[in-house]
Amino acid sequence: MIDSYIGYSTNETIRYQSSSGGVGSSLLKWLFEKQIIETSITFVFNHRSLRYEPKLIYSYDDYVVTGSIYQEIDLIGFVKRNVDRIKGSFACFALPCQVAAIRNYLKEAGHESFIIGLTCSSQQTIEATYYLLKRLKVKKEDVRKLQYRGNGWPSGIQIECNRNIFIPNNNSLWSEIFHSRFFIRKKCFLCANTLNTASDIVLADPWLEFYLKNEKVGKTLVVVNSQKASDYLKRCYSDSYIELSPIDANLILQSQLYTIERKRRARNSLKIMTVYINLINNKWYRRLFLNPVLWNLHLYFKRIIENKII
Ligand SMILES: Cc1cc2nc3c(=O)[nH]c(=O)nc-3n(C[C@H](O)[C@H](O)[C@H](O)COP(=O)(O)OP(=O)(O)OC[C@H]3O[C@@H](n4cnc5c(N)ncnc54)[C@H](O)[C@@H]3O)c2cc1C
Ligand code: SF4
Repeated sequence: MIDSYIGYSTNETIRYQSSSGGVGSSLLKWLFEKQIIETSITFVFNHRSLRYEPKLIYSYDDYVVTGSIYQEIDLIGFVKRNVDRIKGSFACFALPCQVAAIRNYLKEAGHESFIIGLTCSSQQTIEATYYLLKRLKVKKEDVRKLQYRGNGWPSGIQIECNRNIFIPNNNSLWSEIFHSRFFIRKKCFLCANTLNTASDIVLADPWLEFYLKNEKVGKTLVVVNSQKASDYLKRCYSDSYIELSPIDANLILQSQLYTIERKRRARNSLKIMTVYINLINNKWYRRLFLNPVLWNLHLYFKRIIENKII
């Protein structure tokens, strides 16, 4: 870690539409407009599959501020399949487990890469979204648009169907589903790289008491990992694309402490974790506890196992 900051986009629309404070989208805008990169990736929502699909872009005008996407995307496979269509230097957003492979494909193809890393507690399979719709009694084919974050902070899941639905990101059915562990990959239980250390720059939500109480539009926590990122971020700030203030690196760690500590304890309790992961993935357990009548009982077990036993 070279530097750490808290900041936000000076473009009010980007800031509002983004997940946290829009530093990520504004940095991408700056990289395109200063002709530092020629290619990036955006995500397009497909209302038939309910999936966000990656798409190569060659200009910021084609970029969509989507907010964080909480469904699995095969970004590594997409870059591998499309590497021949990448022109010049390349930048994209990526989760910690995607960074090394993406960098390798680009390096092999002779492209310079700049990775804007997202902090990551876990990723959901698309089944999490399907389950939410089922619980809300919304038919998949009725969904016109679905967005997980953005439009204020910390916002929540926004569904356009025959009515408009908003479910907050915290203390809601969606946050229960998100943290239920029913819809995450096995590797997410033990993953040690929450802070995306291999990326050039890392973005996070300011999950700190002060911001949770006072922030409504959004701010981004930023960790700078490479000299190149330090240079770009400072120039992006001098060109007035973003506001930035230095922040103690310990506060960034503190904002993610729950996740980091939970996963550290999980890695130290591998035997119990194996039983726990197998139980959650057992088809009878799932059949029983995904039933809304027993749902709260699963959340209770989960809390006991994770907080008291592990
Ligand atoms: C699965 C997941 C888990 C996360 N877990 C945490 C966490 O535990 N703690 C925390 O503080 N923050 C977490 N984040 C990051 C956080 O939600 C914001 O993405 C981050 O703060 C970005 O800030 P920003 O407003 O500057 O970015 P923005 O300006 O909103 O730009 C973010 C861009 O990232 C891209 N993107 C979104 N989702 C994905 C995806 N799944 N894969 C690749 N690219 C994507 C989109 O192009 C989007 O426009 C997570 C994000 C994801 C996707
Ligand atoms: S928790 Fe780790 S393994 Fe799971 S999606 Fe995030 S980076 Fe990948």
